[in-house]
Amino acid sequence: MRIVRAKALGFCFGVRRAIDMVAEVAEERGPIDSLGSIVHNPVVVDGLTAKGVRVVGGLEEVESGTVAVTAHGRGPEIAGEAEERGLDVVDTTCPIVRKSQKAAQGLCADGFRVIIYGEEDHPEVRGVLAWTEGKGTAILDPEAEIDIPHRKLALLAQTTKSEQSFAEFVGRFVGHNIGRINELRIVNTTCPETDERYHAAHELAAECDLVIVVGGRGSANTRKLAQTCADSGVETQQIERAREIEPEWLEGKETVGVTAGASTPDQSIDEVVARLEKLAEKLHAKEQRARRFAPSNLMDA
Ligand code: SF4
Repeated sequence: MRIVRAKALGFCFGVRRAIDMVAEVAEERGPIDSLGSIVHNPVVVDGLTAKGVRVVGGLEEVESGTVAVTAHGRGPEIAGEAEERGLDVVDTTCPIVRKSQKAAQGLCADGFRVIIYGEEDHPEVRGVLAWTEGKGTAILDPEAEIDIPHRKLALLAQTTKSEQSFAEFVGRFVGHNIGRINELRIVNTTCPETDERYHAAHELAAECDLVIVVGGRGSANTRKLAQTCADSGVETQQIERAREIEPEWLEGKETVGVTAGASTPDQSIDEVVARLEKLAEKLHAKEQRARRFAPSNLMDA
């Protein structure tokens, strides 16, 4: 059985950067509070907790010390609110998300109605919307009814949407609303790192009998990767930890692929590959034994 890793998988640079930043600050200043999970992965969260990073739901839960803004970013109000409460802020907002926030803010200031192609409840999208001062909306349906007050419209995307799905959204949205728009801006705020992982997952799915997708169940990006593989027609299993792999998944498989969401640490991926190698060896030994003791072989002996 061959075990193949996707060409691009696991931590993106934004997540790596955020983890390093909070770990460094916790080491220098002592325990810090993170406004939400730094990443949607229990293995990483456990590791950071051990280093003194506590996850809190909001500023109201923090009495003193330092708070961290996650890679998903927050609205502009957070800096002022933290200052009022006498808290220091470590801002780990991913530079790609920051670009999206700045674009949304600037376009609103220029009188554009800002539409974000994304999930309105996602922390990153909520953060970007906050930079529009209530003048932005997040939608997934390109035919949703939207008012466009000055016939000026701007389209952005949640960073983890694929370029292809954003392009399809833009095409359908513009087709549906063109009669109400005089000026249109499209800012491609999709993240190249995420797209790279989707493409690599596609390629992987094409050469495997089974793909194991490693990542937190709460990670939208990991779920989307698993969906990408399953849509390619390959058997797909999503797991958080190596011990969840069932030996029977591997029976009769020639090539097993491994990919992982942008919030999955290298350690989890290595553990999954190590367990697959071990299970493959056992399976091979079992098959050899079965062959040796097959009735036809016993008669030859
Ligand atoms: S997926 Fe992209 S946008 Fe999101 S944190 Fe990683 S690098 Fe930044």
